[in-house]
Amino acid sequence: MGDAKMNKIVNSLLEWYIKNKRLLPWRVDKNPYHVWISEIMLQQTKIETVISYYCRFINELPTIASLADCSEDKLLKLWEGLGYYNRARNLQKTAQIIMNQYDGQFPNSYFEILSLPGIGEYTASAIASICFSLKEATVDGNVLRVYMRINNCYDDINNVKVKSRVRNELLSIMPDNPGDFNQSLMELGETICLPNGIPKCLICPIRDYCQAFQKGNYLELPVKYIKKDKPTEFYTIFLFLYHKKVAICRRKNVGLLQNLWQFFNISNKMSLSQVKDYLESNHILFCDVKKSISYTHIFTHKKWNMVSYIINLESISNISDVQWVNLVELEEKYALPSAFQPFKKVIVEELKNNDEA
Ligand code: SF4
Repeated sequence: MGDAKMNKIVNSLLEWYIKNKRLLPWRVDKNPYHVWISEIMLQQTKIETVISYYCRFINELPTIASLADCSEDKLLKLWEGLGYYNRARNLQKTAQIIMNQYDGQFPNSYFEILSLPGIGEYTASAIASICFSLKEATVDGNVLRVYMRINNCYDDINNVKVKSRVRNELLSIMPDNPGDFNQSLMELGETICLPNGIPKCLICPIRDYCQAFQKGNYLELPVKYIKKDKPTEFYTIFLFLYHKKVAICRRKNVGLLQNLWQFFNISNKMSLSQVKDYLESNHILFCDVKKSISYTHIFTHKKWNMVSYIINLESISNISDVQWVNLVELEEKYALPSAFQPFKKVIVEELKNNDEA
């Protein structure tokens, strides 16, 4: 596409963005702390969901210093439901680095920002361009979709070389307000040039320059190489109840969801009679066992297929390394990863029913 045409696209996008941008809490100012927290939260979660999490987080931890000093339990509780708990831990590590190495001031060069834990090219470019007006291009799924459609390009957007080429081409047309330009492309992708369903071409500010609109093939773009199905692991979740308390335990300090709270579980899916056999062979005395819900949780690289059982215990003498928590503690004090949330809901209901009985 020629330079004159590209300049027209840039100007049309900027004009449209200034008039139509959504009023989001992290857009009120250009504070890098605010932009950083919102970008990390937005990595896997929709804007509508992030707004309430973001406001609660900033309300509780209003500064980089408060994040650096916060207890891990409080941090994870604020993050509960967003998943990917290592992101929350990396936020704190980064806050501590900024306090110790940058006198509490967010670094203002792209490579210093990129060197911080949990910050990749996309987030570093977003912070650098929005907060420090540095000419860096943010290339995410939204931007790639818009770019491929405008240029009627069938290259695989999961290919790193393609992504890098798009970044270079965007850098070559980057205007003097890079933050607004990057956000205009992302905003267009989120609100007009939609990922699922039909894009709203009739109200698109760059319709006149869009080759996919002219050809009518926008639904074929962008092209993505299809990944293989994710491997599945199977688990049986034991929801142990004793005197209106439920057992939770810490995960190991390595691997997925490290050091987070969970319900007791073992690998493989067990039938009701296998669960009873397991309890008896481990000398765990129970009053009754009933099958509860099954749930499959999808992570980035794997799936967990889980079945659960509610087990009312007669004695807890042969159960070790667990914490016994009541309803209030389970709801307010301990953060459980999303993978265990459906079981938490079940056990909360069970504890409430026990209370009423
Ligand atoms: S005209 Fe349609 S396909 Fe082209 S960029 Fe706009 S919304 Fe996307």
